[in-house]
Amino acid sequence: MTYPTQPTASHFIDGTYVEDTNGTPIAVIYPASGEQIATVYAATPKIVEQALASAKRAQKHWAALSGTERGRVLRRAADIMRERNHDLSVLETYDTGKPYQETIAVDATSGADALEYFGGLAGSLTGEHIQLGEDWVYTRREPLGVCVGIGAWNYPTQIACWKGAPALACGNAMLFKPSETTPLCALKVAEILHEAGLPAGIYNVIQGLGEVGASLVSDPRVAKVSLTGSVPTGKKVYAAAAAGMKHVTMELGGKSPLLIFDDADLDNAVGGAILGNFYSSGQVCSNGTRVFVQKGIKEAFLKRLTERLANAVIGDPLDEATSFGPMVSERQMNIVLDYIEQGKAEGARLVTGGERIDREGFYLQPTVFADVKDDMVIAREEIFGPVMAVLDFETEEDAIARANATEFGLSAGVFTSDLSRGHRVIAQLEAGSCFINSYNDAPVEAPFGGTKMSGVGRENSKDAINNYSELKSVYVRMGDVEAPY
Ligand code: NAD
Repeated sequence: MTYPTQPTASHFIDGTYVEDTNGTPIAVIYPASGEQIATVYAATPKIVEQALASAKRAQKHWAALSGTERGRVLRRAADIMRERNHDLSVLETYDTGKPYQETIAVDATSGADALEYFGGLAGSLTGEHIQLGEDWVYTRREPLGVCVGIGAWNYPTQIACWKGAPALACGNAMLFKPSETTPLCALKVAEILHEAGLPAGIYNVIQGLGEVGASLVSDPRVAKVSLTGSVPTGKKVYAAAAAGMKHVTMELGGKSPLLIFDDADLDNAVGGAILGNFYSSGQVCSNGTRVFVQKGIKEAFLKRLTERLANAVIGDPLDEATSFGPMVSERQMNIVLDYIEQGKAEGARLVTGGERIDREGFYLQPTVFADVKDDMVIAREEIFGPVMAVLDFETEEDAIARANATEFGLSAGVFTSDLSRGHRVIAQLEAGSCFINSYNDAPVEAPFGGTKMSGVGRENSKDAINNYSELKSVYVRMGDVEAPY
């Protein structure tokens, strides 16, 4: 069987595909069938050196262009991505197993949004003028240099663009290492950027496991590291970056609370909880996996939720009708199955799901546990799969305190028809990306990122510019220098 996914080569360096089969082979598995659809090779030290040297060499020239010129390339790349949305979405589906119904709507399109948005901003990035009597200071907004992006496997195209677009807009070079689980999509992003006119070396992609990522983070030529991944990896990468005093953006995991009050619109609340737990088979960092439901609405909520989950179309992800696909890998499926067993063993009430689906590929049933207690493992740890934990609450104060009793702080949501309560509650929740009567929207115009253990820094929005540039202040004396001797 041939798939349209076999990459031209494993790496994209200095404007072209590069192969080195001496690297450790990485099998690319289609999650819906378990079949191997491609092989890439982890970067050898020679490839890592080639990628870093090319980025370092090219970056100064890219930074010397005007912002408008850089932005034009990004905006052209955005247009190409939109034109090729279908092919890129099919590839994303092969890489991740996510249904085409999702990938056609959110992956290449959100990548294109980032390229368009930061392409538009590039021409207006400035420093400022600060008058001090007759003297003055001006600031120059300068790129950091070579930035490294390290991706997770759930949104490979989006992550490659969310990191690349602001980095390139500011005049940096980006060296991106995708997750070893989903290595294909970022190569296409690199290809398209170069087709759009990006100079060679400004966006390189190399493959590899954690050790390749680690070798990039510790290289003195690298000025910044942006990681999307788990908290344990984040701790390692942040520590390694600190040793070289490098800038970081950390987009890490979560166990986010979603608070549903008695007065919420039931169907909207159920819809929000579905989006926040089962989209992408639950493999979304910002998911609201601790669903606190006020006692008065609880049974109605569970009933409606179960009815609506029965409408999920589970099947071939390439079929447009499919709305629920497999887990990304056998490994991730087994991790989630272990959590499901723990939930059962801890005495949570299994409302629906709870089993592997009997078909080829890595499919799990959408799973809901009710009567979950705060100290259960399924209420404390990030599962990263289609497993919702429903917890009861009575008062607003109690729900807020329990929602915040976690080391994570990525997202939080509230469903209520009382506007004052919506804003009052959200203001007290310790999270970076929050929602009132909605869940998991991530427009490029809004900052995205976490607090507490969920991360450092923000992606998207104007704020990302501060994470990919720094200010040089220049004091200009107009008169004589008065020295004491
Ligand atoms: P992971 O932490 O296992 O791996 C992430 C990336 O880090 C991979 O590319 C991996 O090769 C690399 N890596 C591993 N060890 C490294 C090291 N020592 N040095 C440098 N790089 C290293 O995460 P995953 O399993 O790929 O993704 C799932 C996790 O990502 C979940 O915790 C999820 O919440 C999180 N996530 C966060 C966001 C966000 O924006 N906050 C988005 C998506 C996923």
